[in-house]
Amino acid sequence: MFITGILKGLWVTIKTALFRKNVTLQYPKERRDHPYRGLQKVNTKECIVCGMCARSCPVNALKIEQKAGREKTRNADDYDFMVNTGSCMWCGLCEEICPKHAMHLTNVYEMADYTREKLIRKIN
Ligand code: SF4
Ligand code: SF4
Repeated sequence: MFITGILKGLWVTIKTALFRKNVTLQYPKERRDHPYRGLQKVNTKECIVCGMCARSCPVNALKIEQKAGREKTRNADDYDFMVNTGSCMWCGLCEEICPKHAMHLTNVYEMADYTREKLIRKIN
């Protein structure tokens, strides 16, 4: 009984060591290519600056700021869309709620930086 248990355990170890396909990648040389919820991107041609994306954000990570010297318009080029990647939890609500499908979460996921200020990124 005792020996059978040891042999079973050994068999699992040998099977895993020799036959199981690796699930880890040699990052950064290798990267997964399946979709992530990564850094947002605003399509300024479609966006109507309704602000629903920013209002829907549960952690206030998304801000729409009027550019200096620009009029208040419905043109997204007159605004800076900023996301705080240090607060964002990649829930995707901002993308889901956009009535014009102008907000997208991209595959960009490498956003680490050394200061909090640099974590705030422009997405339009
Ligand atoms: S919800 Fe869509 S259309 Fe409205 S401001 Fe955000 S990106 Fe633009
Ligand atoms: S993904 Fe979620 S947390 Fe991040 S900016 Fe959009 S709504 Fe906010």
